[in-house]
Amino acid sequence: MRRTLGQMVDNGFTAFARCRGCGKVKQIDLDALIAKVGRDYSLWNRRCRCRLTEGCSGWNIFEVGPGWHVAAYDPSQDQRWLNEDYQERMAADAAAGVKRGDPWAAPPIGDPTAAGRSRSPKSRP
Ligand SMILES: [Zn+2]
Repeated sequence: MRRTLGQMVDNGFTAFARCRGCGKVKQIDLDALIAKVGRDYSLWNRRCRCRLTEGCSGWNIFEVGPGWHVAAYDPSQDQRWLNEDYQERMAADAAAGVKRGDPWAAPPIGDPTAAGRSRSPKSRP
């Protein structure tokens, strides 16, 4: 599915943008897109900020095909995007002073001299 826009039009393909944020889907006007970026442009492994819903900051990904549609990106590219999104969220959280637990981190180990002692039966009155 690594076709250029020109090849897609020549083969009767259609393309859709799907937003991973708001979930909206819209068919892309390939002729209008070609007029803007040329026939050699490809949607393969590309994404853009949502242009489907005003104010949505989600990513639009593309699905192309001759009637049936498949994702226009490699699984490895998708993984890179997910990693970028994660880093972006963490940076935004850090900038906003939000602390979230890392779901992959080991559970915190309590300080045995503090928490352990207070729970000890010996320290109860
Ligand atoms: Zn959106």
